[in-house]
Amino acid sequence: MLKLIRAPNLMLAQHWVNLLEMAGIGCELHNRYLQGALGEIPVDQCGPEIWLSDERDEALARRLLDNARRGPARGAVLWHCGQCGEMLEPQFTVCWQCGTARDPLAG
Ligand SMILES: [Zn+2]
Repeated sequence: MLKLIRAPNLMLAQHWVNLLEMAGIGCELHNRYLQGALGEIPVDQCGPEIWLSDERDEALARRLLDNARRGPARGAVLWHCGQCGEMLEPQFTVCWQCGTARDPLAG
């Protein structure tokens, strides 16, 4: 098993799992029930995680998810949280990892 990615929310995680499964990539959704436990567990250990059954699928899986994430927001760019360095999608104005607001001056 290989941890592929942590999703910002369960809905997106489920969407990504569906995409991977449609491509024939075996994967599992972990941590799906920890959402309500925020506050007791460090944030970076919360949130749904997508694990690959076969790590040889990693490159393909990442490409699929990259495409999926770019899809709806064509032309928009990802940004990096200035606090923790997490890469975030354009529609987010606050880092879901550490809660820092996006710096409008930073890329
Ligand atoms: Zn952050």
